[in-house]
Amino acid sequence: MDYQLFRSNRRTIALVINRQGNLVVRAPKRASLIEIEKFVRVKQSWIQEKSAQMRQRRPVAKAFVDGEKFLFLGQEYQLRIIDDYRSKLDFDGSFAISKYFLPKARRLFEEWYRRQARELLERRANFYEAQMGVVHRRLSITAASSRWGSCSSKATVNFSWRLIMAPMEVVDYVVVHELSHMLHHNHSGKFWLMVGRFCPDFRSAKFWLDRHGHRLAL
Ligand SMILES: [Zn+2]
Repeated sequence: MDYQLFRSNRRTIALVINRQGNLVVRAPKRASLIEIEKFVRVKQSWIQEKSAQMRQRRPVAKAFVDGEKFLFLGQEYQLRIIDDYRSKLDFDGSFAISKYFLPKARRLFEEWYRRQARELLERRANFYEAQMGVVHRRLSITAASSRWGSCSSKATVNFSWRLIMAPMEVVDYVVVHELSHMLHHNHSGKFWLMVGRFCPDFRSAKFWLDRHGHRLAL
């Protein structure tokens, strides 16, 4: 079985399946190759199961065909391709794209999602800030594909536009998470206490992102 091996000062051997579904072995400096090989052999079925799971979770690129479904706030909406010059991409309970603009579909969708993301995230940030007693200076929208949000020491909060595909509770959790970092610059117990106070159901939001994060893609 193929794997990448990293040695460090750690005491035990650990196996990790990365996002590409490949095996990474972390081992103590002194562990012999025979020992490592044996460890990997014993864990074979776990490795196979886990790597199949990760491969399945890789995003599937959208094809922009009629009837294809697109996520928006946790719901799936169908795409219709229409014969219309005037509107490029519209949303009205379903997405409608002009067939003349299909070659630009991915860019048009991203622009649409970005607009929605900026509007909603500003609104939710303001809503929670009033309760939490913090204020952001700048809010930016990024294209990060697994770092849903971040917060700098200069009170700049960043959110990925992909987040707008997730359910509202998940959006709110990420907002509360980043705003909490304005007071706690780490993931300490105090930090999670604050998150829990304003977002009592944060565990299920975290779980959702873990399970479905790969679907927040175009
Ligand atoms: Zn954090």
